[in-house]
Amino acid sequence: MLDHAGISVEVFEKEPDVALHQSSHNSGVVHGGLYYEPGSLKARLCARGRDLIKTYCATHSLPYDECGKLVVALSEDELPRLENIFRKSVGNGVPDIRMLDAEEIRDIEPNCIGIKALYSPRTAIVSYGQIAKQFAIDIQHLGGEIRVSANVTKITETNDGIFLEGDGSPLHEAAFDHVISCAGLQSDRLAKISGDRPDPKIVPFSGQYYVIDRDFRDHVKGLIYPVPDPRFPFLGVHFTKRIDGEMTIGPNAFISFGRENYSGRSINLNDVGDLLLYPGFWRFAVRNVPMALRELKTVISEAAFLREAAKYVPSLSSVTVSPAVRGIRAQAMMGNGSLVDDFVIRRCGRVTHIRNAPSPGATSSMAIAEYITREILAIK
Ligand SMILES: Cc1cc2nc3c(=O)[nH]c(=O)nc-3n(C[C@H](O)[C@H](O)[C@H](O)COP(=O)(O)OP(=O)(O)OC[C@H]3O[C@@H](n4cnc5c(N)ncnc54)[C@H](O)[C@@H]3O)c2cc1C
Repeated sequence: MLDHAGISVEVFEKEPDVALHQSSHNSGVVHGGLYYEPGSLKARLCARGRDLIKTYCATHSLPYDECGKLVVALSEDELPRLENIFRKSVGNGVPDIRMLDAEEIRDIEPNCIGIKALYSPRTAIVSYGQIAKQFAIDIQHLGGEIRVSANVTKITETNDGIFLEGDGSPLHEAAFDHVISCAGLQSDRLAKISGDRPDPKIVPFSGQYYVIDRDFRDHVKGLIYPVPDPRFPFLGVHFTKRIDGEMTIGPNAFISFGRENYSGRSINLNDVGDLLLYPGFWRFAVRNVPMALRELKTVISEAAFLREAAKYVPSLSSVTVSPAVRGIRAQAMMGNGSLVDDFVIRRCGRVTHIRNAPSPGATSSMAIAEYITREILAIK
């Protein structure tokens, strides 16, 4: 982390506490960097970020479990894609990565079937909610301020600097030299009020997780993922061990009828209206009917959800599960309906906006901070 004496930092958070959105509603995986295009921001910042998060957890005695991850091919037609991920992960410098045959898969995950797998033994799990709370404590120890229940509704840049307002009232006294907006599910709206261009727009995709019956949780030791199918923009359900020892299945991916609608039982008319009036959404929807049908099955039927997961661990085909936390992905979409894959971090005047930070955004968080200060703001 950078250590800059003389720079004061103030954080404005609209909720009564930090990390109540994506940062505490995610899979908790410290990704190795398997899938990302070598040279992309994701590849670069994930590699740096995973090392920074590991050191940060060790320094602050936060739990960090290197439980390892398997990406499992069930059929021959998945092998070229698995090989391609292997090549990318070598290019991205993922530590100790190797390919396994069916027998070797069972040495790592005795209940998992598959004809070949990519094994990343250093992939780890953490609690990003806990890490974010520790970041807040550190900021305060270093003299910074965390202002909760401070909803930023206006950003004005003047010759004197930048001023923030919340619901018609100023949120601070002295002008800021720089503002960094990392508003997750609201990031496009914050960009818009500061005068940045409308695209990309945030489209919320919810992800349901299920926790499996405790008596069965040892059927899986770490993380078991499918080989991504290029026809579908999201991964499909997988097994993720949680840092509290529970084993989860999920997340699926389906349009959320509200950017912060975690219960899934209500509809936010403003958010839905925003979505329906966005031509990019309709272009995306028309192109992704097969994905919507696959995911819809897992949204309406717990049994279908389990069936997907049990393809990898058949001994769990009739396990009892209970719904766990839902996450909502802040996924950036362009007007032509394409989902933005890489991180988008852009400066508009003296305001820097994080406009797309999907997974591995949490893994990369400390590296994103370093990138913004060193490369975008050029603070050496
Ligand atoms: C289901 C799911 C699974 C994921 N799994 C992983 C994973 O395993 N590993 C990984 O590395 N990444 C994962 N991610 C991605 C990761 O969670 C995100 O990249 C990361 O949490 C983004 O952090 P953030 O601070 O940008 O956004 P958030 O954590 O969403 O924080 C944005 C904050 O901005 C605040 N805010 C919004 N608008 C305003 C306003 N107007 N004024 C003041 N405050 C405002 C919000 O209240 C919120 O606290 C996952 C994401 C999801 C949704």
